[in-house]
Amino acid sequence: MDRALLVIGSVAYDTVETPSGSVDDALGGSALYASAAASLFVPVHLVGVVGTDFRIDDLDFMRQRRVDLGGLEVADGRTFRWSGVYEANLNVRHTRSTHLNVFADFSPRLPDGYRSDSVIFLGNIAPTLQAHVLDQLREPRWVALDTMDLWINTARGELEKVMTRVQMIIVNDAEARLLSGESNLVLAARRLMAMGPAAVVIKKGEHGVFLVTNDGYAALPALPILSVIDPTGAGDSFAGGMLGAIAASRDWSFAGLRRAMAYGTATASLAVESFSLDGLRTATRLMLEERYRWLRDIADIPEPVRADGGVHAGPNA
Ligand code: AMP
Repeated sequence: MDRALLVIGSVAYDTVETPSGSVDDALGGSALYASAAASLFVPVHLVGVVGTDFRIDDLDFMRQRRVDLGGLEVADGRTFRWSGVYEANLNVRHTRSTHLNVFADFSPRLPDGYRSDSVIFLGNIAPTLQAHVLDQLREPRWVALDTMDLWINTARGELEKVMTRVQMIIVNDAEARLLSGESNLVLAARRLMAMGPAAVVIKKGEHGVFLVTNDGYAALPALPILSVIDPTGAGDSFAGGMLGAIAASRDWSFAGLRRAMAYGTATASLAVESFSLDGLRTATRLMLEERYRWLRDIADIPEPVRADGGVHAGPNA
């Protein structure tokens, strides 16, 4: 059985300034972050577009990690570019510029070998392009959708149509509120479920992440990373790690999603420790498993206190 993950999203040159420094025209984009992350788990089928200015050899490390670039089109024109600056509080980011460039006329065409893929990540990109990908799939089983304020504000109708065709949506807290019209995040998740997806994942940056499905609610903190150098792509790395784990296990039960959410959290923690894709480039599966165990320890809650002030004996006592 083919356990590849299909990823569509932006392939970008990012110019980013954080309190730790800056990079110009560095590798980025939702599809590259998600693919680099997911390739720690499974082979990846990457769908996107770059311009003739793109240095394709820079993706050699991804090729070595079984990221197939057969769906990466090279079009006449310049590669998508995005630029952003972070405040001292790394939760606050300002976009300086977005140049769609070759994405303006992009229409994704899936290589034949990708059309039978069953686990799909529709990374942040125009909803019409996400829909084009869905149209070409034979029998998708678990499709996860990401989006951003730009598309919620400018292409809501298209986005809502895509939402009816996916099993999971992964958004941050601000996007969840904007898309649902609810300020309470649990109500927002419920409202998003009513729009289509059976599972809703809401990311809250350094405050962690939670999952809502009809089978329950689960939450995880972020790992307490002391040196956050560049939060760009944290969300995409989270999604790539989570979807990579789902594609590897083919387990989208509530327990499977909880486990995958922990892998997503572990993956994102590796991505933010360096600029651009460098954290994911040097990451190994072993490092990921260490972070996973660290997160399990952190999320563990001791036995409750008894009425007499003692502590209940746990199942292992
Ligand atoms: P995140 O930090 O998870 O929000 O993702 C940041 C990445 O999203 C950067 O690498 C950008 O290249 C990419 N990005 C920013 N704006 C857009 C957009 N409008 N469409 C697609 N990708 C974008």
